[in-house]
Amino acid sequence: MEMVTLIVIIAIAAVAIIGGGIVGLVTSTRRRKDRSLPPQAGTDVITRPEEPTVEEPSAGEAEPETAEPAAPVIEKPESTASRLVRLRQRLAGSNALGRGLLNLLSTDQLDEDTWESIEDLLLTADIGVAPTQELVEGLRTRLRVEGGKADPKAALRDELIKLVDPGMDRRLQVSGADGAPGVVLMVGVNGTGKTTTTGKLARILVSEDRKVVLGAADTFRAAAAEQLTTWGERVGVEVVRGPEGTDPASVAFDSVKEGLDTGVDTVIVDTAGRLQNKAGLMDELGKVKRVIEKQTPVTEVLLVLDATTGQNGLIQARVFSEAVAVSGIVLTKLDGSAKGGIVVAVQRELGVPVKLVGLGEGPDDLAPFTPEAFVDALLG
Ligand code: GDP
Repeated sequence: MEMVTLIVIIAIAAVAIIGGGIVGLVTSTRRRKDRSLPPQAGTDVITRPEEPTVEEPSAGEAEPETAEPAAPVIEKPESTASRLVRLRQRLAGSNALGRGLLNLLSTDQLDEDTWESIEDLLLTADIGVAPTQELVEGLRTRLRVEGGKADPKAALRDELIKLVDPGMDRRLQVSGADGAPGVVLMVGVNGTGKTTTTGKLARILVSEDRKVVLGAADTFRAAAAEQLTTWGERVGVEVVRGPEGTDPASVAFDSVKEGLDTGVDTVIVDTAGRLQNKAGLMDELGKVKRVIEKQTPVTEVLLVLDATTGQNGLIQARVFSEAVAVSGIVLTKLDGSAKGGIVVAVQRELGVPVKLVGLGEGPDDLAPFTPEAFVDALLG
């Protein structure tokens, strides 16, 4: 009898210990979560979690491995080198410009008609009138001088690279001075891929082991903040947001403050891209920038343009560059577009380099822009 009682007591104690352990884990995770979220967070008006989700796994270091399934699944973004290879292939596979040019150049007789067709092809690809003439002039001269020894493909490659301007500084300014984070302001018209690009850029930075905070300052579209939050959660990056309709500048301010307080490397601020009049745009972006710079300088202003919009894209580029000092261009939707020439046109228009290209809807379909790789991809 005593023996049975003892066994029962031991069994109850064991269950209590094991059970207590599990409950303890759950509670401690929840406690951390409770601390990390403001009251009511997780419902509709999330402002900003105080702890980035990415820190959770390290906070649980002392916990046994059984805690792992409860930890949020953080994706590992693709490395820059690997995405470059993949994206080059994609560009080569989808772009008809290079193939068309090479076909024309490899005809035996390069007569006036053929040169005209070459010009047409370049114009159709949105390179612009002046650069098209420069390229054709350069090619004609070179092929004439080199005569029978000329290699049309090599000549075309050189001339195209010259047009894309390898001398421009395309490094992204994502670091700040004196321990402050770099601040990247994303600007552009709605629909160009601004929010998507903000998310993709965060992934690139995370893949390079940088700590990032995202600011959802496009407060006019609830969907934009939702979208950005999803991007952030996937790679464990904190997203600072405010209720719909909040002043974008105050969200921008809060996100940079959060970046400073938590010591991150880079804060990326997604702004609203309503097509409004130039004065309104200037006011809005000017205010966002001014408010951020009360704390620390904006290190990069990236203008996001949709490569498929041709002249419209150029007009947008002009309007935005008058509203805020753009330091780099992101050309999205170059995949499947025969309008790669816009790279040349927009750089000429703004005197600012294309720094990144978007080549698809996948999370890692954003790559640094390099003239040689771009031209090689065009020529297949
Ligand atoms: P926003 O209004 O400027 O913030 O635009 P979104 O980021 O919401 O993007 C608009 C649409 O463009 C979405 O369907 C994106 O998936 C798509 N998109 C963005 N970048 C690219 C790209 O490089 N290639 C393709 N094919 N689609 C893209």
